[in-house]
Amino acid sequence: MGKPTGFKEFERVLPKKDTVANRKKTYDEFVQPYSDEELNKQAARCMDCGIPFCHSGCPLGNVIPEFNDAIYDGKWEEAYRILVSTNNFPEFTGRICPAPCEAACVLGINRPPVAIEEIEKHIIEIAFKREFVKARPTHLKTGKRIAVVGSGPAGLAAAAQLIKVGHEVTVYERDDKPGGLLRYGIPDFKLEKWVIDRRITLMEEEGVVFRCNAEVGKNVPTSELQAYDAVVLAGGSTIPRNLNIPGRELKGVHFAMEFLKQQNKRVGNLPFDEEDILANGKNVLVIGGGDTGSDCVGTSNRHGAKSVTQFELMPQPPKDRTQAMPWPTYPMLLKTTTSHEEGCQRYWSISTKEFIGDGKGNLKGARVVDLEWELDQLGRPVKFKEVEGSERELPCELVLLAMGFLHPQRDGLLQQLGVELDERGNVRANEGDYQSSSARIFAAGDMRRGQSLVVWAISEGRECARKVDEYLMGYSELESKDAIYDYA
Ligand code: FAD
Repeated sequence: MGKPTGFKEFERVLPKKDTVANRKKTYDEFVQPYSDEELNKQAARCMDCGIPFCHSGCPLGNVIPEFNDAIYDGKWEEAYRILVSTNNFPEFTGRICPAPCEAACVLGINRPPVAIEEIEKHIIEIAFKREFVKARPTHLKTGKRIAVVGSGPAGLAAAAQLIKVGHEVTVYERDDKPGGLLRYGIPDFKLEKWVIDRRITLMEEEGVVFRCNAEVGKNVPTSELQAYDAVVLAGGSTIPRNLNIPGRELKGVHFAMEFLKQQNKRVGNLPFDEEDILANGKNVLVIGGGDTGSDCVGTSNRHGAKSVTQFELMPQPPKDRTQAMPWPTYPMLLKTTTSHEEGCQRYWSISTKEFIGDGKGNLKGARVVDLEWELDQLGRPVKFKEVEGSERELPCELVLLAMGFLHPQRDGLLQQLGVELDERGNVRANEGDYQSSSARIFAAGDMRRGQSLVVWAISEGRECARKVDEYLMGYSELESKDAIYDYA
């Protein structure tokens, strides 16, 4: 622990953000860095809590008290080494992770938790600035060839780990650039894309080969994978949940990803074939109260929407933990994102019954109804009924469906490989071994666990890589999140 009394002396302070008016003018990131003095204070808030629950809160098992200590002592390189011992890409998680580690922070029992996510982002950005981050190509050569299908955080983490131990790694990506949802999903104002390019360059210098515009099962025959000693499937969970109500076919009703991906391409000056989906001057209705919905809100405001409304079927979550979500579990609390701060009317317990057209095939509104939820003893919603007399029409010319993802795409790759799927339609492979029904084929990330988080995708990519290495070599020296390391 850096400063024994730090947690009593210093308040949790988050870095300053640009004003709402300024940030709506661009797609740039808007969180400013801490001063060195503030970073030091925030790290000093980490107390010697004895059992650091943050370790287990983090799917990567990040060794948080130790890097806080190093930061407090100004040992930047040491902090960096501790951080990357468990996380290949802190520059991603430091920007966009919902920080389950902070939910598990012991200080968080009765005070605001340590600002772990921001500290992580600072450690890696300082490390890049001071040139601690370098490509480290290995001289080892095992002669084994591995194909990774999908270049989202799971595929990237698997590739980054496998190349370290001397395997030849080729990553296939159907999009024109690597990154998965980091690049084509998450808006630039949360994660600017040079951050991904910077990491891809390092991985290429280490020997990873990226083949973009290469969809295995479509323009790349699945049989090509037979030339590899092992395959990692990391294709994500890409089939969105639809809302099959009358009027779904109207012009103006879109899946969130159609809208978000296009905007990422527009910011990157990259071409796309589809017709423009723009929110400017429109009343936008975002259906779905999660992160994807929030990203649609922020993007619509930047387009210059006339109004932005967001619907969630479930009741409004509580502001504080309840009996159903005790510390240190990750609590499902009311979350107001930076996109919400930028302007959005939010409704909970509401359902959309019909999309209404203008008679010429264009969307002009939605028929909606309020819901009343029955709660169980712990306050968790169990079932709902419509509130009589609450049905009404809401004007909207653009609807964005952001209700989650069902499972990976089955046509093409998965069907041709014939790997078993689980009851949810994801690739069946146990968390412990990541091996599919075919011995040489492994799976990681959203394609295996279903729609999740970047931090889980990185964790699965890393753990899966170790299992692939063990399968090929009989043993593995790659780190495991369950191992205990000595950083002294
Ligand atoms: P993906 O990132 O989906 O990558 C899979 C890749 O595989 C894609 O690039 C796809 O093109 C490629 N692919 C698929 N099939 C083939 C094939 N046959 N051949 C070649 N390539 C193929 N999580 C957070 O932690 N924080 C956030 O703020 C956050 N925001 C999000 C915002 C949006 C809009 C969305 C949709 C998700 C968000 N998530 C967020 C979730 C997070 O992005 C995902 O959990 C994570 O990206 C999953 O990583 P992955 O590598 O498993 O899959």
